[in-house]
Amino acid sequence: MGKIKLEGLQKKYPNATDYSVRDFNIEIEEGELIVLVGPSGCGKSTTLRMIAGLEDITDGKFIMDGEIVNDKSSKDRDIAMVFQSYALYPHMNVKQNIGYGMKLRKTDKQIIDKLVNEVSKDLGLDTYLERKPKDLSGGQRQRVALGRAMIRTPKLYLMDEPLSNLDAKLRTVTRAEISRMHREKGAITIYVTHDQVEAMTMADRIVVMSMGEVQQIGTPRELYNNPKNIFVATFIGQPQMNIIKGRFDGTYFTCDALSIKLTEGDAKVLNKQGYMGKDIIIGVRHSNVRDEEIYMNAFPHAKFSAVPANVEYLGDCINVFLKMESDNFFTAKVPTSSKVEIDKMHEFVIEETKLYYFDADSSDSILFESNKQNAREY
Ligand code: ADP
Repeated sequence: MGKIKLEGLQKKYPNATDYSVRDFNIEIEEGELIVLVGPSGCGKSTTLRMIAGLEDITDGKFIMDGEIVNDKSSKDRDIAMVFQSYALYPHMNVKQNIGYGMKLRKTDKQIIDKLVNEVSKDLGLDTYLERKPKDLSGGQRQRVALGRAMIRTPKLYLMDEPLSNLDAKLRTVTRAEISRMHREKGAITIYVTHDQVEAMTMADRIVVMSMGEVQQIGTPRELYNNPKNIFVATFIGQPQMNIIKGRFDGTYFTCDALSIKLTEGDAKVLNKQGYMGKDIIIGVRHSNVRDEEIYMNAFPHAKFSAVPANVEYLGDCINVFLKMESDNFFTAKVPTSSKVEIDKMHEFVIEETKLYYFDADSSDSILFESNKQNAREY
């Protein structure tokens, strides 16, 4: 049995006309790091705040160690929290801020000192221990807030965008630090972010949310390889997956900009599911849109020409943004040796073995179930 279980959790704020979170179900095992991810307003914080005991649960159950704790107060839930808006005690220095919670719990001073030293070293705060919050940068203050939570070993850590005030370099370092501390402590962590990179790099399992509803729950690998619908497919992965609407004639996928002979296996599944002669949507990641000869030779029925609107040289590769007739954007990834140029027609090829397929009406993945069996890696 999972240590934490959310059963049909729902939230409707007073005076709101609609639910902000609908039918949220998950069972979380000991030691898991779960990341809730989705665009702003999709209900991540509301879910976290219900778990924290800061918002009432409208419907459903929150179960910890087999006990329904909906009505338990926040302080009785054995939870440590870090929120985006951290409130440090202005009159206390870093050392006192980090150790304050332990002091309240009447922990021995020597133990507090030892733990404060360890945590502050982990978070790169060990040279600032005597400073007051007003003499720290925003990023340093946020790390003090993290330290205040990480010094404890509760049953559950809750984190709401704790890295939002850090610069890019510090974000990368700190997220690795949180992951490491999480593994060492072994407590469940539920982490909220709108940043899919954070979700992919930190999570044991990701919960993708949209408009108050869970879209899919899975490991980063599962979500990347086997997204349940277009929302998840385009949310996970950078740059966003290319999405193109066209028609399937039983063998070829065709739209204004291109025509691709699908693999026999894919065509068979689509035919079997009645998509012959129908509109479908295909998805392809930029890393599967190439221009090297080896790919041209491998996929002679998936070539197309397009005009780059922009090229981004990234050192180890070039991302190309293409102008397509009906689509807003389409990205390709080519090697730095490519002769690709802005505004000059260039030939590309799609790896037809790496396509995702979606129903044009429902946006659901067509191969979702069969992909599970064939576990395709992209
Ligand atoms: P997220 O964390 O994903 O950005 P939130 O959980 O903050 O999303 O918000 C989900 C929805 O609930 C939004 O539509 C938001 O406007 C609404 N909401 C959040 N807090 C309140 C509140 N205190 N009262 C009324 N509606 C709220």
